[in-house]
Amino acid sequence: MSDKHVRVRFAPSPTGKLHVGGARTAIYNWAFARANDGVFILRIDDTDPTRSTEENTQVILRALRWLGLDWDEGPEVGGDVGPYKQTERLDLYRQAAQRLWDEGRAYPCFCTPEQLAADKKAAQARKDPFQGYQRRCRDIDPAEARRRVDAGEPYVLRIKVPLDRGDVVVHDAVHGDVTFNARELDDFVIFRSDGTPTYNFATVVDDALMGITHVIRGDDHLSNTPRQVMVYEALGAPVPTFAHISMILGADGKKLSKRHGATNVEEYRDAGYLSDAFVNYLALLGWSLDGDTTIVPRDVLASTFSLDHVSKNPATFDPKKLDWVQGQYLQAMSDETFSRQVLVPQLVAAGLEGACVREAYEARPAWFDLLSSVLKPRCTLAPDVVEKARFLYAGDELELDEASVARNLAKEGARASLEAALEALGALGDDAWDAASLDAALEPLPERLGTTKRKFYGALRVAVCGNQVSPPLGASLELLGRALTLGRLRRALPLAR
Ligand code: GLU
Repeated sequence: MSDKHVRVRFAPSPTGKLHVGGARTAIYNWAFARANDGVFILRIDDTDPTRSTEENTQVILRALRWLGLDWDEGPEVGGDVGPYKQTERLDLYRQAAQRLWDEGRAYPCFCTPEQLAADKKAAQARKDPFQGYQRRCRDIDPAEARRRVDAGEPYVLRIKVPLDRGDVVVHDAVHGDVTFNARELDDFVIFRSDGTPTYNFATVVDDALMGITHVIRGDDHLSNTPRQVMVYEALGAPVPTFAHISMILGADGKKLSKRHGATNVEEYRDAGYLSDAFVNYLALLGWSLDGDTTIVPRDVLASTFSLDHVSKNPATFDPKKLDWVQGQYLQAMSDETFSRQVLVPQLVAAGLEGACVREAYEARPAWFDLLSSVLKPRCTLAPDVVEKARFLYAGDELELDEASVARNLAKEGARASLEAALEALGALGDDAWDAASLDAALEPLPERLGTTKRKFYGALRVAVCGNQVSPPLGASLELLGRALTLGRLRRALPLAR
């Protein structure tokens, strides 16, 4: 399906960082726009002045950039229907509200909080099924209302929901038709007494002025939707298609929160997840390509995403599955890509390589690519490479892990193993110092010494790599080089029995 007119928006409130749930909403909006040749708009919903900060806005923009969700209109890129921050659009909300007021579709309400509380209590006492605003100011004569406003009496502006409106049916692309009883929608506030618009009003004014065709957002907003439909109708604007997507739950079935671990996008970025893997995993929390496929690269997502494959059931965030997807992405990288994008940047960040990734890589590409080939299958997160590669950077100062020494070197026969290895490896020149030749030189030794492979290689590994968890031995020795390998074997001799 291609529809040139699709316009969607992601509208985060900068009251915190970008949450995993928000990121998924952004991904769906982005993918829907891309799949339909549409426009993806970013709007900052910062009308809550007490909780919105510029710093959070910047964090959100950075997180979206890291996710690779490029927006076509919005902060930093501009567009024809800006500004794209609600605090810069207050005049537009005022104009829209004034128009509704002038047209008799909105009216000022002077009720004090005490009056409203008393009305509510009375409605409860008489078991009135309608407990909302009792429309006390709805029928005040407009000239009288104007006089009170001009005299400085505090007021809010309320929308006039037509009394004969009937049921409000929200056509939701995920939930189907959802019916709300219009009689339960009271004449809700669209402008507060401090002159600021409410969320339900500002959002609709924006979505209407920005020509939004599909509102894709979390289903915590489904209950706001009938009120928003009332605003569209009052404004005379077309009602967009809604798609309310399910919540993301933790393994215990509760809404995903800090208790379940990291919930902000940047925490995943800093932990070393790949943006592509993270986007793939989040996209599948509630959407599927065909019910089976688990690896959906970004370009496939951007060409195949559709709302009819979005599930209305809550999705469960499973960190193990995320790690699995991440592993798939790492494995699929060529050695060179892994070196340039994962290995060398991590080694630079850890201070093991000089400051420039490109220069470090280009100084010895084959060496890094060999290291990548052995580390790739053994790492889930990017920073894992640092611990696994550290032994290569310890020069002559390698510290041996004590427990590993006790288990592997301080054992009968270990010394003989090291001596035999020293002799066999010492016979290999620099030009034959490659994994295959090294493995071949070591291979016959355990049997010749009358020991097991486990004991033999265990002793060697600890002497040369410092612990038992390093990559395969032949490649490790090749990477380490002849001089360091032989030096470490010799230095370990006194520790071996
Ligand atoms: N700013 C709202 C939020 O962050 C989203 C509003 C909407 O998508 O309509 O929850």
